[in-house]
Amino acid sequence: MFLYKTIPGLVRYLEEIRAAGDTIGFVPTMGALHEGHGSMIRHSVSEGHHTLVSIFVNPTQFDNQEDLHKYPRNITRDLEFLHDLGCHVLFLPDEKEIYPETESVSSKMDLGALGTTLEGAFRPGHFDGVVQVMERLLWITEPDFLFMGEKDLQQLTIIRKLIKKMGINTALKGMPVVREESGLALSSRNERLSAEQKKKAVAIFKALEDARKNFDSSSEEDLRNQAVFGMESEGLKVEYFEFVNGDTMESIDSNGFNSGGVFAVVAAWCDQVRLIDNMRMS
Ligand code: AMP
Repeated sequence: MFLYKTIPGLVRYLEEIRAAGDTIGFVPTMGALHEGHGSMIRHSVSEGHHTLVSIFVNPTQFDNQEDLHKYPRNITRDLEFLHDLGCHVLFLPDEKEIYPETESVSSKMDLGALGTTLEGAFRPGHFDGVVQVMERLLWITEPDFLFMGEKDLQQLTIIRKLIKKMGINTALKGMPVVREESGLALSSRNERLSAEQKKKAVAIFKALEDARKNFDSSSEEDLRNQAVFGMESEGLKVEYFEFVNGDTMESIDSNGFNSGGVFAVVAAWCDQVRLIDNMRMS
């Protein structure tokens, strides 16, 4: 596996790959890698793409400094993980490489309602930071395929919009949520949970599963109330539990046409750790 810490080195390397006629599959991450990342990397490798992974804990997308400070980092383990998966090249820039003082890399895309609902409402500025770093990474790498997780459903919708705005020839592939056996969605932040807290956090998956099972027979309001009650009874603090169109993230109450399918999306605190998850209902 090749490792680049600077943009010029990586750009030259990718030019050679393209010149050799290979396609580039890109999996951007913030490290502390787990099987959620692993499934995307494996997918890209198995489709025959020259697979590029980036690890960059992007400070501009953290609305909470404590979350940034406590974000798990384990580069030694990540390197081994990537090597074992057959990743071809890792981009590991530092902050100055992505945000040089001499260059303006600020980016603004009008996110519309996407920027102010759900994650946008509870994490002000978060998606501006995501768009800023993703625009930068996409200009640098210009991948043929971009792999991102459905775990971050709203982010996926925003990146689809960004790719369109940039006019690059990149196909976005949304990959299914990977879960622990208990149902808990894998997340780097799970590393901050004790075994006991992880047991509590399974209530998020159970709430989603129950809503899915009863989706055709109960009203959304009843389903939401039951879901919130179930999670809070386990000691979680729920920020939102909503039914949305998976393409637009609009509430399904305000949009009868649901081409993207209906998803339940949820954010809840398990003590000091904020977790998000979602599940397709229909
Ligand atoms: P992160 O390192 O948390 O920024 O995530 C990097 C990418 O991995 C994003 O596209 C996430 O949506 C995706 N991802 C994170 N957790 C999971 C999961 N449990 N299942 C599938 N994809 C995931």
